[in-house]
Amino acid sequence: MEKYGKGTQAVQGGYRPGNAEPRQVPIVQSTTFKFDNSEYMGQLFDLEQSGYFYTRLANPTNDAVASKIAVLENGTAAMLTSSGQAANFFAIFNIANAGDHIIASNSIYGGTFNLFGVTMKKMGIDFTFIDVNASEEEIQAAFKPNTKAIFGETIANPGLSVFDIEKFAKVAHKNGVPLIVDNTFATPINCRPLDWGADIVTHSTTKYMDGHGVSVGCAIVDAGRFDWMAHADKFPGLTTPDESYHGVTYAEKFGKEGAFITKCTAQLMRDFGCIQSPQNAFYINLGLESLHVRMARHCQNGMQVAQFLADHPAVESVRYPNLEGDPYYALAQKYLPNGSCGVVSFRIAGGREAAEIFMNSLKLIAIETHVADARSCCLHPASTTHRQLSDDELQAAGIYPNLIRVSCGLEDAQDLIADISQALDAALAGVNHAD
Ligand SMILES: *Cc1c(COP(=O)(O)O)cnc(C)c1O
Repeated sequence: MEKYGKGTQAVQGGYRPGNAEPRQVPIVQSTTFKFDNSEYMGQLFDLEQSGYFYTRLANPTNDAVASKIAVLENGTAAMLTSSGQAANFFAIFNIANAGDHIIASNSIYGGTFNLFGVTMKKMGIDFTFIDVNASEEEIQAAFKPNTKAIFGETIANPGLSVFDIEKFAKVAHKNGVPLIVDNTFATPINCRPLDWGADIVTHSTTKYMDGHGVSVGCAIVDAGRFDWMAHADKFPGLTTPDESYHGVTYAEKFGKEGAFITKCTAQLMRDFGCIQSPQNAFYINLGLESLHVRMARHCQNGMQVAQFLADHPAVESVRYPNLEGDPYYALAQKYLPNGSCGVVSFRIAGGREAAEIFMNSLKLIAIETHVADARSCCLHPASTTHRQLSDDELQAAGIYPNLIRVSCGLEDAQDLIADISQALDAALAGVNHAD
């Protein structure tokens, strides 16, 4: 499918039925697979044959959907996991052990920040969070002898910063480690991090790839370019025999193209589970079939809402990477020339109180802790996801008490704008009343 455009890949990638076979990807809702003899099954266990024996390790529906995502991202291999959290955990834990160190951008999803800084720290993996705008020298200065990867998000959730993939890839490669990029918000339709030098891409497919608020899930994609053998002592898990898997050396047996995902499946999925259900993979595939069409509309709506907010007297400031004047405008022009995503954030005049009135006045846009859905939704972090923080703590975290995040769905832009407009009017009036 490599020669086709992204739209064709989104519709037909990953699954090519043969004569008289089902047109749609079949849901293989089976935990296990049947064999005529034990020898054949033994070969599968030894990774001598490729095939299926137990759905925790691999399943045909999941594989078809993972292959489509691999094609869309220009990778050589991919796998699905049960959620975005599991993918980012696997992507790091596949190459880092207790005693190792990872450099991560400080502008990343809160769940990932906690996974890295709290839970994986307890497992003995140390993280240094650096400014998303760090210079090459500052990135270099964060390196330690035991550093095993750099991690960032193409467009950060919820910070909406744009990650300078080429810059981080350059420093990572100079130090002999891979760059891992969470591409959830941009999707491969708007940016392919692997084409800019990233080595591994992760996705919370729960967001735009599903796009209909139906199933939690995730994908990990490998560019198949990182030369593990050239840095063999840094990555012993890939470059020395795995005694828990019949002595296989992943980087030798599966090469650059297949080592990372094969190890991740054979070891981490075997031991931790976190498998995507085939039914959920099927739903994600339905979302993928229209991803290219939907992303264009999400971006169009996001841009129109951002422009409306930028001109509104009740709005102090707006953040949207493709809006001229945004701090990340130049990086968005480079990495996201066709659009970024449907998420816009803004600070309402009148502080926390105005934000609360605004939220309560929305009629069409729903209050939800979600983004990237066909239906527009909105969040006031200070009174929901970040409510345990004081106003001073919120400020320090860049989550201002008057910050509102809108995820523009697929409705008509004029209806979204009308809803936001009447809620801004109500907020203005409410605050004036209180005065
Ligand atoms: C939502 C999200 C995650 C976590 O994904 P889940 O599917 O909710 O586990 C990870 N990264 C980013 C950028 C996200 O937006």
